[in-house]
Amino acid sequence: MKKMSLLYIGLTIAAVVWLGYLFRSGNTEDGSAAPNGQSQPIQVTASFYPLFFFTAQIAGDKATVYNLTPAGAEPHDYEPTTQDMARIENSRLLVMNGGKLEPWGDGIRETLKGTDTAILSVGASLADLQLKEEGETVTDPHVWLSPVLAQKEAAAIAEGLKQADPANAPYYETKAAELVGKLNDLDQEFRRGLESCVKKDAVTSHNAFGYLMREYGLNQVSISGLSPDEEPSPQQLAAIADFAKENNVEYIFFESLVSPKLAETIASEIGAETLVLNPLEGLSDEEINSGKNYFTEMQNNLANLKIALECR
Ligand SMILES: [Zn+2]
Repeated sequence: MKKMSLLYIGLTIAAVVWLGYLFRSGNTEDGSAAPNGQSQPIQVTASFYPLFFFTAQIAGDKATVYNLTPAGAEPHDYEPTTQDMARIENSRLLVMNGGKLEPWGDGIRETLKGTDTAILSVGASLADLQLKEEGETVTDPHVWLSPVLAQKEAAAIAEGLKQADPANAPYYETKAAELVGKLNDLDQEFRRGLESCVKKDAVTSHNAFGYLMREYGLNQVSISGLSPDEEPSPQQLAAIADFAKENNVEYIFFESLVSPKLAETIASEIGAETLVLNPLEGLSDEEINSGKNYFTEMQNNLANLKIALECR
């Protein structure tokens, strides 16, 4: 009897010690997989809002995702801080657009050489719109604004997460399929909404909507360049005003992260009104807190396009 109870106590102690070990190792600081199969979320950094949103949707509770470009800032001219760099280096994965959207994109490859951070450029291989800007041929990086190309970005992000964290691959696959399904619904909404419009020309403040317009058979006339702070010359402004008058343009699109001054100037010159077309390059904290996200803003873009282009 005595021997049996000693054995029992001994086994109980062993079990408690073992459980304690599992508990501790399941909460390792570096997030590595513990022997019991439990793991801490991996850390992932995304370069700006849409990629942050897509990555966070797919990552769910399996990864902590940081958005590098702060709320209210704009990715074309943001430079990572020292703190941002530390965050990237502590990440298993860095999700970027590529194709010159991030001005620091080339430098980071050098910096991260030999580290454990994998770099994923999800936009560069999808970018095939060439345009002339200040005499140079440049490739338009704004692929996330096409709901069709966004589905491909989501698939690439899911692939990156699966490679960075193979233990949770089935989870990422399920979440990615949900996101791709929603993006596909968004595409159908745009297709139906823009299928019979009186007008085809959208005058925008920032040349960000090329892929969106191409997808739905529309034409973009933009006031600024690919980067919203590239201001047009007086001659370019005059040409846009002439175009707008000739084509009976009644709405000029502007965006919230950039001063609406240029759009307002042209609008008042030709007696037009302004409407928001959001390139989703960043949402403010208030916008995020009030429940705005990629989908709500894309739906708002569609509603405003339907007004400006007189779609039925
Ligand atoms: Zn842009």
